[in-house]
Amino acid sequence: MGPYQPEERLIHTSVAGFAKVNSSIRYGLRAMTLRLYNTLTRTKEEFVPLQGRRVKMFVCGITPYDHTHVGHARTYVSFDVVARYLTHRGYSLFYLQNVTDVDDRILNRAPEVKVPWDELGDVYLADYLKIMEALNVTSVNLYAKATDYIPEIIEQVEALVNGGYGYQVDGDVFYQVSKFQDFGKLSGVKLEELRSGARVEVDKRKRDPQDFALWKAKKPGEPSWESPWGPGRPGWHIEDTAISIANFGPQYDIHGAGSDLIFPHHEAEIAQAEPFTGAKPFVKYWMHTGFVVIKGERMGKSLGNIIPVKDLLEKYDPDVLRFFLVYTQYRSPIDFTYESLEEAQRAYGRIRDALDRARAEMPDAKERKGAGDKELREAISTASQDFFGAMDDDFNTREALAALFRLTGVFNTALDRGLSVGSLQEFLDTFETQSGILGLFRKPVGAVTDLVEGLVGLLIRMREDARRSKDYETSDWIRQELAQLGVELQDTSKGPKWRLS
Ligand SMILES: [Zn+2]
Repeated sequence: MGPYQPEERLIHTSVAGFAKVNSSIRYGLRAMTLRLYNTLTRTKEEFVPLQGRRVKMFVCGITPYDHTHVGHARTYVSFDVVARYLTHRGYSLFYLQNVTDVDDRILNRAPEVKVPWDELGDVYLADYLKIMEALNVTSVNLYAKATDYIPEIIEQVEALVNGGYGYQVDGDVFYQVSKFQDFGKLSGVKLEELRSGARVEVDKRKRDPQDFALWKAKKPGEPSWESPWGPGRPGWHIEDTAISIANFGPQYDIHGAGSDLIFPHHEAEIAQAEPFTGAKPFVKYWMHTGFVVIKGERMGKSLGNIIPVKDLLEKYDPDVLRFFLVYTQYRSPIDFTYESLEEAQRAYGRIRDALDRARAEMPDAKERKGAGDKELREAISTASQDFFGAMDDDFNTREALAALFRLTGVFNTALDRGLSVGSLQEFLDTFETQSGILGLFRKPVGAVTDLVEGLVGLLIRMREDARRSKDYETSDWIRQELAQLGVELQDTSKGPKWRLS
């Protein structure tokens, strides 16, 4: 199946999805361009993929040696939204993420916890994937482990050594940064300034303090692979270029990660890839997420202030945590406090309540016109324009959510005036499309099935019968039993309503 255009989708949309067709038409006519901030050029640029409508995106993955924390979740939820939006816009996306499954941090931690290094990696990779699933991160096409790409890594190191970019010392291979004229073009870091500052502990065997390891000689007790330089293992930066070039070829569209990886990691990637392939630029758009800040400091394992996602999920719905993360545009820092998380939970609840109300009203809604229809339809049209306008402006999820909030407000007043089935459905469809792009407001786990709906309806009718024959003992008993099961009954002027409490 080739890449498809949004217009093609219209043809396949069923009549039931009429509202979606409408918003797509509006959207198509406006012919908005998607703009994103490129760290490489330090400007917002129009997004034009290298090859038609195919998009290749690589995001730096985890080093599985400890629990996934909120800083990770922020980055991966952000790129999941990017992926969902690109797909919604009709791009055919391949989203690749690496897994650094052999690394100093794993090899140091393994003996501390008395677990073989590869088992440690497997445990924390599984932990990470479980958390990604809970957070509804579903867009990654391939998680590629570094240890599965050793031949490609060796091939690249060898080519860099042969080209004069790498040099060997005692089984280690270093990259000579002074050989690469463009070193610093992504980060703006100047080599001369680094040399004068004594920031780096100097390994005397390096020609320049900024030279970095392409290949590391085996130390006692470490895992190793055979290479032209003796047994050893890959340096950190080379695994990304080996994995991305093996899967994507010499150039690709988007490279994403947290901002902490711009220097030296991403600078090193460019320095490896461009001389290796001869193609420039290695990556067209570099996207970096802002930090999660806690008490004024970046959340990071090395800073000792991380909050594991699993701890938050004991208390908060994963959908609420995702909402909290998406509530800030991906490049802005998130100041993490429990108060702001509680605030997000309340804001989330306001939208969730409106959606629940809309679904609950459906069976009683008017077949034809409702007094609030016009107002709601206008608000839906405005909200769609605002939502897509915000997403087209460097994935501004904060503004996109603001549009959904405004729509929710209008919905609540329009509903009090009365809504028809058609406009309720249009409201729900709009929400489904737009919250689907943000990966939010999934139906709750254990959502009401038709069977549950039917059975609860049956019990309510039995209770009504009991009340009519003044058998209040039975009617109260049914109400209490339902409450015990989490079904909350409300007697309204239009008859009894229920919802899950
Ligand atoms: Zn990386």
